[in-house]
Amino acid sequence: MDDDYRLTKSCESFGNISEKKKVLMNEIKSAHPRAKDIHKIVSENASEFKSKFLKVYCYRCAYCGTSIRINVKSQFEIDHFIPKTSKRFRSETDAGFIGNLVLACHTCNHNKSNFELSESSQEILNPDLEKIKKIYYRDNMFYIRVSQDASQEAIDFYKKLELGRETCRIDYLLLSMMELRDKIENNDSLKCQLNEKIDFLCMKRNIMT
Ligand SMILES: [Zn+2]
Repeated sequence: MDDDYRLTKSCESFGNISEKKKVLMNEIKSAHPRAKDIHKIVSENASEFKSKFLKVYCYRCAYCGTSIRINVKSQFEIDHFIPKTSKRFRSETDAGFIGNLVLACHTCNHNKSNFELSESSQEILNPDLEKIKKIYYRDNMFYIRVSQDASQEAIDFYKKLELGRETCRIDYLLLSMMELRDKIENNDSLKCQLNEKIDFLCMKRNIMT
Protein backbone atom coordinates (compact mmCIF):
# COMPACT_ATOMS: atom_id res chain seq x y z
CA MET A 1 0.00 0.00 0.00
CA ASP A 2 1.16 3.46 -0.88
CA ASP A 3 1.27 5.68 2.21
CA ASP A 4 0.19 8.77 0.31
CA TYR A 5 -2.24 10.85 2.42
CA ARG A 6 -4.25 11.65 -0.73
CA LEU A 7 -4.99 8.03 -1.58
CA THR A 8 -7.60 5.70 -0.13
CA LYS A 9 -6.66 2.06 0.39
CA SER A 10 -7.81 0.50 -2.85
CA CYS A 11 -7.48 3.35 -5.29
CA GLU A 12 -5.00 3.63 -8.11
CA SER A 13 -1.78 5.44 -7.14
CA PHE A 14 -0.77 8.61 -8.97
CA GLY A 15 2.19 6.89 -10.64
CA ASN A 16 4.75 9.00 -12.47
CA ILE A 17 2.87 12.23 -13.09
CA SER A 18 5.77 13.97 -14.86
CA GLU A 19 6.05 11.12 -17.36
CA LYS A 20 2.30 11.12 -18.00
CA LYS A 21 2.43 14.89 -18.56
CA LYS A 22 5.14 14.44 -21.19
CA VAL A 23 2.93 12.03 -23.12
CA LEU A 24 -0.02 14.39 -22.87
CA MET A 25 2.13 17.32 -23.97
CA ASN A 26 3.03 15.47 -27.17
CA GLU A 27 -0.66 15.00 -27.91
CA ILE A 28 -1.40 18.66 -27.22
CA LYS A 29 1.48 19.71 -29.49
CA SER A 30 0.17 17.72 -32.40
CA ALA A 31 -3.32 19.17 -32.00
CA HIS A 32 -2.16 22.74 -31.21
CA PRO A 33 1.34 23.14 -32.69
CA ARG A 34 1.54 26.85 -31.91
CA ALA A 35 0.09 26.81 -28.41
CA LYS A 36 2.23 28.47 -25.76
CA ASP A 37 -0.14 28.75 -22.81
CA ILE A 38 -1.09 25.14 -22.07
CA HIS A 39 -3.24 26.30 -19.14
CA LYS A 40 -5.73 27.76 -21.62
CA ILE A 41 -6.06 24.42 -23.38
CA VAL A 42 -6.39 22.10 -20.40
CA SER A 43 -8.62 24.34 -18.32
CA GLU A 44 -11.37 24.51 -20.92
CA ASN A 45 -14.22 22.39 -19.52
CA ALA A 46 -15.40 21.19 -22.91
CA SER A 47 -11.91 20.27 -24.08
CA GLU A 48 -10.85 16.63 -24.43
CA PHE A 49 -7.52 17.77 -22.99
CA LYS A 50 -9.11 18.74 -19.69
CA SER A 51 -10.40 15.17 -19.40
CA LYS A 52 -6.95 13.88 -20.28
CA PHE A 53 -5.37 16.17 -17.70
CA LEU A 54 -7.78 14.83 -15.08
CA LYS A 55 -6.72 11.32 -16.07
CA VAL A 56 -3.04 12.17 -15.50
CA TYR A 57 -4.00 12.82 -11.85
CA CYS A 58 -6.28 9.74 -11.66
CA TYR A 59 -9.20 12.18 -11.37
CA ARG A 60 -8.02 13.42 -7.97
CA CYS A 61 -7.03 16.76 -6.53
CA ALA A 62 -3.24 16.79 -6.28
CA TYR A 63 -3.37 18.61 -2.94
CA CYS A 64 -6.20 17.03 -0.95
CA GLY A 65 -6.97 13.86 -2.93
CA THR A 66 -10.70 14.45 -3.43
CA SER A 67 -12.03 12.70 -6.50
CA ILE A 68 -14.30 13.22 -9.49
CA ARG A 69 -16.51 10.62 -7.81
CA ILE A 70 -17.47 13.36 -5.36
CA ASN A 71 -16.84 16.62 -7.19
CA VAL A 72 -17.94 16.98 -10.81
CA LYS A 73 -15.41 17.69 -13.56
CA SER A 74 -16.21 21.40 -13.70
CA GLN A 75 -15.32 21.65 -9.98
CA PHE A 76 -11.76 20.67 -10.88
CA GLU A 77 -9.47 23.49 -11.87
CA ILE A 78 -5.96 23.82 -13.21
CA ASP A 79 -3.69 25.49 -10.69
CA HIS A 80 -0.43 27.25 -11.54
CA PHE A 81 1.85 25.64 -8.92
CA ILE A 82 4.18 28.63 -9.11
CA PRO A 83 1.60 31.42 -9.33
CA LYS A 84 1.29 33.34 -12.57
CA THR A 85 1.87 36.51 -10.54
CA SER A 86 5.39 35.32 -9.61
CA LYS A 87 8.25 37.64 -10.55
CA ARG A 88 9.83 34.66 -12.28
CA PHE A 89 7.37 35.01 -15.13
CA ARG A 90 7.17 37.86 -17.59
CA SER A 91 3.61 37.00 -18.50
CA GLU A 92 0.75 34.64 -17.73
CA THR A 93 1.73 32.63 -20.81
CA ASP A 94 5.17 31.97 -19.32
CA ALA A 95 3.52 30.37 -16.29
CA GLY A 96 1.33 28.13 -18.42
CA PHE A 97 3.82 25.33 -19.20
CA ILE A 98 2.57 21.86 -18.39
CA GLY A 99 5.12 21.18 -15.62
CA ASN A 100 3.68 24.11 -13.67
CA LEU A 101 0.09 22.98 -14.01
CA VAL A 102 -1.54 20.94 -11.29
CA LEU A 103 -5.03 19.48 -10.99
CA ALA A 104 -6.78 20.98 -7.96
CA CYS A 105 -10.30 20.93 -6.59
CA HIS A 106 -11.99 24.32 -6.49
CA THR A 107 -11.48 24.68 -2.72
CA CYS A 108 -7.74 23.93 -2.76
CA ASN A 109 -7.18 26.16 -5.79
CA HIS A 110 -9.18 28.99 -4.27
CA ASN A 111 -7.44 28.67 -0.89
CA LYS A 112 -3.98 28.47 -2.43
CA SER A 113 -4.61 31.55 -4.57
CA ASN A 114 -1.29 33.34 -5.30
CA PHE A 115 0.67 31.72 -2.49
CA GLU A 116 4.27 31.38 -3.65
CA LEU A 117 6.71 28.98 -2.04
CA SER A 118 10.45 29.57 -1.87
CA GLU A 119 12.45 27.58 -4.43
CA SER A 120 13.65 25.03 -1.88
CA SER A 121 10.09 24.34 -0.71
CA GLN A 122 8.80 24.13 -4.26
CA GLU A 123 10.63 20.88 -4.76
CA ILE A 124 9.46 19.45 -1.45
CA LEU A 125 5.82 20.45 -1.78
CA ASN A 126 5.31 19.96 -5.51
CA PRO A 127 2.41 17.48 -5.56
CA ASP A 128 3.77 15.84 -8.75
CA LEU A 129 6.82 14.61 -6.83
CA GLU A 130 7.37 12.12 -4.03
CA LYS A 131 8.47 14.29 -1.12
CA ILE A 132 5.08 15.80 -0.29
CA LYS A 133 3.94 12.35 0.89
CA LYS A 134 6.44 12.53 3.72
CA ILE A 135 5.42 16.04 4.77
CA TYR A 136 1.70 15.46 5.19
CA TYR A 137 -0.04 12.34 6.40
CA ARG A 138 -3.50 10.98 7.20
CA ASP A 139 -4.02 10.44 10.94
CA ASN A 140 -6.16 7.71 12.48
CA MET A 141 -9.13 10.10 12.67
CA PHE A 142 -8.80 10.54 8.87
CA TYR A 143 -7.62 14.14 9.05
CA ILE A 144 -4.68 15.36 6.96
CA ARG A 145 -1.87 16.41 9.32
CA VAL A 146 1.62 17.90 9.06
CA SER A 147 4.64 15.76 10.00
CA GLN A 148 6.56 16.85 13.06
CA ASP A 149 9.77 17.64 11.19
CA ALA A 150 8.05 19.75 8.51
CA SER A 151 9.38 23.25 7.82
CA GLN A 152 7.49 26.41 8.75
CA GLU A 153 6.76 26.92 5.06
CA ALA A 154 5.19 23.47 4.80
CA ILE A 155 3.00 24.37 7.79
CA ASP A 156 2.07 27.70 6.19
CA PHE A 157 1.19 25.93 2.94
CA TYR A 158 -0.99 23.44 4.85
CA LYS A 159 -2.78 26.30 6.60
CA LYS A 160 -3.21 28.31 3.42
CA LEU A 161 -4.76 25.34 1.62
CA GLU A 162 -6.75 24.45 4.77
CA LEU A 163 -5.83 20.80 4.33
CA GLY A 164 -7.06 20.11 7.86
CA ARG A 165 -10.61 20.96 6.82
CA GLU A 166 -13.54 18.72 7.61
CA THR A 167 -14.44 18.09 3.95
CA CYS A 168 -11.02 16.51 3.28
CA ARG A 169 -11.87 14.01 5.97
CA ILE A 170 -15.42 13.38 4.76
CA ASP A 171 -14.26 12.93 1.16
CA TYR A 172 -11.68 10.40 2.26
CA LEU A 173 -14.30 8.43 4.18
CA LEU A 174 -16.81 8.65 1.35
CA LEU A 175 -14.25 7.43 -1.19
CA SER A 176 -13.32 4.56 1.12
CA MET A 177 -16.99 3.58 1.39
CA MET A 178 -17.38 3.76 -2.39
CA GLU A 179 -14.40 1.44 -2.80
CA LEU A 180 -15.97 -1.01 -0.39
CA ARG A 181 -19.22 -0.83 -2.33
CA ASP A 182 -17.30 -1.60 -5.54
CA LYS A 183 -15.97 -4.74 -3.91
CA ILE A 184 -19.33 -6.13 -2.83
CA GLU A 185 -20.42 -8.70 -5.33
CA ASN A 186 -23.54 -10.84 -5.37
CA ASN A 187 -25.13 -9.13 -2.42
CA ASP A 188 -27.65 -6.64 -3.73
CA SER A 189 -29.23 -5.96 -0.36
CA LEU A 190 -25.91 -5.01 1.23
CA LYS A 191 -25.02 -2.91 -1.81
CA CYS A 192 -28.37 -1.16 -1.54
CA GLN A 193 -27.91 -0.37 2.14
CA LEU A 194 -24.45 1.01 1.57
CA ASN A 195 -25.70 3.01 -1.42
CA GLU A 196 -28.30 4.69 0.75
CA LYS A 197 -25.68 5.80 3.27
CA ILE A 198 -23.29 6.99 0.58
CA ASP A 199 -26.01 8.98 -1.19
CA PHE A 200 -27.04 10.58 2.09
CA LEU A 201 -23.46 11.55 2.91
CA CYS A 202 -22.88 12.87 -0.63
CA MET A 203 -25.94 15.08 -0.27
CA LYS A 204 -24.70 16.37 3.07
CA ARG A 205 -21.20 16.84 1.65
CA ASN A 206 -22.49 18.91 -1.26
CA ILE A 207 -23.90 21.59 1.00
CA MET A 208 -20.56 21.97 2.78
CA THR A 209 -17.78 24.11 1.44
ZN1 LIG B 1 -8.32 19.69 -3.12
